[in-house]
Amino acid sequence: MEPSEGGSCCKQTLVRLDRVSKTFGNTVALKDFSLDIRSGEFLTLLGPSGCGKTTTLRLINGFEVPDGGSVSIHGRDVTHVPPFSRDVNTVFQNYALFPHLTVFENVAYALRVKRIAKAEVKARVLAMLDRVGLSDKASRLPRELSGGQTQRVALGRALINEPTVLLLDEPLSALDAKLRRAMQLELRRMHAELGLTFVCVTHDQEEALAMSDRIAVLDSGQIAQIGTPQEIFERPRNRFVADFIGGCNFIPISIDQNSGFTWRYGKPHALARGTEVLLGIRPQNLRLGVPEEGAAFDANVHISDVVYLGTAVRLVLRLGSGLELTAEIDRQAIGTTNIEPSTALRVWARQNDVIDFDSVGWSSHGAV
Ligand code: ATP
Repeated sequence: MEPSEGGSCCKQTLVRLDRVSKTFGNTVALKDFSLDIRSGEFLTLLGPSGCGKTTTLRLINGFEVPDGGSVSIHGRDVTHVPPFSRDVNTVFQNYALFPHLTVFENVAYALRVKRIAKAEVKARVLAMLDRVGLSDKASRLPRELSGGQTQRVALGRALINEPTVLLLDEPLSALDAKLRRAMQLELRRMHAELGLTFVCVTHDQEEALAMSDRIAVLDSGQIAQIGTPQEIFERPRNRFVADFIGGCNFIPISIDQNSGFTWRYGKPHALARGTEVLLGIRPQNLRLGVPEEGAAFDANVHISDVVYLGTAVRLVLRLGSGLELTAEIDRQAIGTTNIEPSTALRVWARQNDVIDFDSVGWSSHGAV
């Protein structure tokens, strides 16, 4: 059991990248990179552009060979095994469908290459089209399909071989926001029904949180944190992860500086040692008005900007010290509070909502 990496904790490792490195010219894409992907899980590789997500996928499907380290699938070293000899299929970002073949023939392609009997091909393709909701589109060409339907053909085509691992490279990036959300649910449903291992690449944190059993957050060719969506969101290990997933206000506090925060139930005990500590507060966890019992701190601020978000309002708040905080307040929680720019407000946060990156806890009281 690995409590810090929760999720499907008891399942066996299916894919292992062991101390892999990959360099392109002067660019280090992956550096001493190790990752265990568990059998049957939905793992998402999440990170900003250029952090090494696609390179990781390409090492798994065999389109790239690492400079150092090894890749194994089911305990077999496949580091130098070509893509077609790996039990892995990929849904590419642009879907890469054959434009001149019908939906049926696109899905059937891999079975035809394997020279499987016609009757079996027909039965399996029809069953797959039914699964991806395209039974009535079998004779259409790709150009006659919507974005969501095209995406489903690509999925059907990748799944028809029943690969041990399905790799999905930004599978929903070509779809509009509403369709993306619908397809996220469908991918999850399909993953649960098929019981296969899905490895998905995205730079969209909401998508990663919504679909995955576990998320590996990548930063500059290394894993910054791996864990369940809840672990990653609620207990980010460092500033990069907190900022990349969910956004975060960072509050550096030092014994020598008056930061403008009043710590109500103590302050980080690193302060007693005179060192600086870094705390984090999610924008959604800042509250307006008189602090309630259990508040960690409160501070006086002025509103410097107001952004309407529909169900919530984003406020940019400035402390006397010059530090800016971002708060996202549910519209119902605002009530009659005046949120015009320049208005003076008091903000506070619950102790449980304060992320202490140094995990030092709290000891003394007062204003810092
Ligand atoms: P994105 O989200 O933009 O697709 P990514 O996280 O998938 O990015 P990779 O495609 O893995 O990132 O690239 C990692 C780094 O390696 C980047 O700096 C990229 O420019 C570089 N890189 C990747 N492939 C090549 C290549 N064939 N030649 C040169 N540099 C490459």
